[in-house]
Amino acid sequence: MVNYDEVLLLKFGEVVLKGLNRSYFESMLIKDTKRRLNRLGKFSYSSVQSVLYVTPVDEEAKMNMDIALADSTKIFGIMNVCKAAVCEKTLDAVLEAGRTYTADALRNARTFKVESKRSDKDFPLKSPELSRECGGAILEKFHHLKVDVNNPQVTVKVEIRTDFAYIHTDPLVGAGGMPYGSAGKGLLLLSGGIDSPVAGYLCAKRGVVIDALHFESFPYTSERAREKVVELASQMEDYCGKIKLTVASVTEIQEHIKSKCNEDYFTLLLRRFMMRIAEEIAIRRECRCLITGESLGQVASQTMNALNSTNSVVKTLCVHRPLIAMDKEDIVKLSRKIGTFDISIQPFEDCCTVFTPRHPVTNPKLENILAEEAKLDVETLVNNAVESAYIQEVNVF
Ligand code: ATP
Ligand code: MG
Repeated sequence: MVNYDEVLLLKFGEVVLKGLNRSYFESMLIKDTKRRLNRLGKFSYSSVQSVLYVTPVDEEAKMNMDIALADSTKIFGIMNVCKAAVCEKTLDAVLEAGRTYTADALRNARTFKVESKRSDKDFPLKSPELSRECGGAILEKFHHLKVDVNNPQVTVKVEIRTDFAYIHTDPLVGAGGMPYGSAGKGLLLLSGGIDSPVAGYLCAKRGVVIDALHFESFPYTSERAREKVVELASQMEDYCGKIKLTVASVTEIQEHIKSKCNEDYFTLLLRRFMMRIAEEIAIRRECRCLITGESLGQVASQTMNALNSTNSVVKTLCVHRPLIAMDKEDIVKLSRKIGTFDISIQPFEDCCTVFTPRHPVTNPKLENILAEEAKLDVETLVNNAVESAYIQEVNVF
């Protein structure tokens, strides 16, 4: 087996639709790629025609190309990724690389085709001729293969560029979305459940830097419940980058609600407090939106009227609910994909599940909620929770 120099080819996604701002988005994408691959060795980066070429520079980087490839599938803003062999722009070198570099993919396939692209018009063969030559060379080596131009199991791609020729097989699907950080920062209300990490992932996919806020209700919720949330935040870093986690206590609020208010309104009242505290902390942390894992109709506090009532206490920020129209099954699929599912299903209590009403209101009237809230010193309770909130360390990957 011949050894080739290899590069990673990362194909830009939606960034290519940007007009005058495109270079801004591209530079954010390159910055994020560097941040992620840094720990794997030294690479050089150059972008040509909507593709980011990532070339390993030192031995460590060369050894880590498979890990770099896998990590690249988690970079938001990238549509697809592949490893490619780099060779001289001579027909012999291209045919040799076409036969050998793609061998692993071709050995187990029954059908294939070759697609060629020639940006360097000085290369002596036109694209269809090059594809034919390369296909012939492959057939000579792999007698079991057949050409299928319509629905091949493997497509071998040959690209003749100004500097070198590049050969690769089908790319892996990338993370899609917009580059990390290109949309500003948002505050995710992160519980220990399945939904909120997925909500954070979906917003991060659109370029939002995720800050997280968790509400605990110690001693009604345990140390272990908080650790679970730290674990979730840490797992989310795989896709979402480093997450700053703030923890606020709602113990005092819950005790006041329990002693003074109608039980049927417990959850709704608590959720209105959570939104007020979240907005204040978001503003202090320079976040420009709140993000929750709410989904229409999922539970009593997520009916249309209940959502209106919790939404209405947020004064200036937009509340993003990326899961609003998603079924639980689809949310679960995403949580498995991002690796948070197994952590989320660990059975620890959440502040929303302590003091749960037996008959929660599903169609609340605002005047009734306001009447319940009038029994409480809302401002002081919110202030106390905001002032006593603390930053919780999240381990870096
Ligand atoms: P699941 O529904 O999978 O149990 P969840 O996180 O969606 O988990 P819900 O009770 O449906 O839990 O809460 C709706 C949303 O409210 C959450 O997605 C989250 O954004 C926010 N939330 C609930 N509890 C907390 C909490 N303890 N800390 C921070 N945010 C919370
Ligand atoms: Mg939920």
